[in-house]
Amino acid sequence: MAATKTPQITVLGSLNIDLTSYVPHHPLPGETLTSNSVVISPGGKGANQAVACAKLSRSREAPNDAASETASVSMIGAVGSDSYGDLLLKNLGEHGVRTDRIAVGSDLKTGMAIIVVDEPTGQNRIILAPEANHAVSPEKFGTLPETLDPKPDLLVMQLEVPLETVLAALRSAKAASVPVLLNPAPAQRLPDEAYDGLAHLVVNETEAAILSGCDESELDAPEGLKRVGEWFMAKRVSNVIITLGGRGVYYANKEGAAELIAAQKVKVVDTTAAGDTFVGSYCVAAVTAQAKGVAFDISSAIKSANNAAAKTVERKGAQTSIPWRDELL
Ligand code: ATP
Repeated sequence: MAATKTPQITVLGSLNIDLTSYVPHHPLPGETLTSNSVVISPGGKGANQAVACAKLSRSREAPNDAASETASVSMIGAVGSDSYGDLLLKNLGEHGVRTDRIAVGSDLKTGMAIIVVDEPTGQNRIILAPEANHAVSPEKFGTLPETLDPKPDLLVMQLEVPLETVLAALRSAKAASVPVLLNPAPAQRLPDEAYDGLAHLVVNETEAAILSGCDESELDAPEGLKRVGEWFMAKRVSNVIITLGGRGVYYANKEGAAELIAAQKVKVVDTTAAGDTFVGSYCVAAVTAQAKGVAFDISSAIKSANNAAAKTVERKGAQTSIPWRDELL
């Protein structure tokens, strides 16, 4: 029997350093505040989702053992030639993510998110400095999906790199028959071409409301979820997945299936990266089915993704809280 080829996931997206400062209260104008603690950690939606795909398809003991991985993951993006860029590349490599298509710009600074967390309430305020992520131009990166060898089984994108690049990459993926999962975060209204032919759209409630123009409260009711699901499907999305935090997930697809699947009941410690973990697990399930030549069971992929995301919610941190494959067995 011929060996099954390891499926390939390519993530085109942002890489950031998260500089998180925990404070007793948010500073007032002109106030100088002493922070309780500061944490510098790898982040960016693109990198988080690449790490989620990698961790969920590898064992913790052997992240770089190609023979035992369920999926091979590579990342496309840009960092500056500074110590933060080095840290991001090293971190991806340690999780088994291929980094040879990440541009290192000598004249660029690595993207940074400055996150100030009010410790008593847990509320955060974020300043995002995209820097190198803005240099992910349609000219240089938008046609890459057609040129990738081996051809990816799934291209994963978010909206933390320029929209023109995402639109160009969607066109390029379509030309090369590469299926795309779009997680349009942070949300902005999108032209119809962004949806046309998408294999998977994963949105949270806020994103679903902004993109479809509905009121977020509509998504509290099953009829509202159905209506918004149909709105996306009318734009030719094959699988629409709306994540609902602790309520779980609603999905609808062009085969006519639709279901509201409950989330796991867990003690919530920190929901950071729950959405990215969900996307990573869902991607691994989608490409694994394709590689095995079996029909994609979206309902069971969502249940596995709920399990993985629930583990992340039970732990503090972003990428560090994402479980490895063997933690879920
Ligand atoms: P984030 O921005 O926090 O990473 P998100 O806003 O993109 O997440 P959510 O809909 O909040 O996405 O959560 C994604 C998934 O994570 C949910 O569908 C669910 O599987 C899991 N999840 C989130 N919050 C909880 C919770 N309180 N209890 C259990 N599971 C949760």
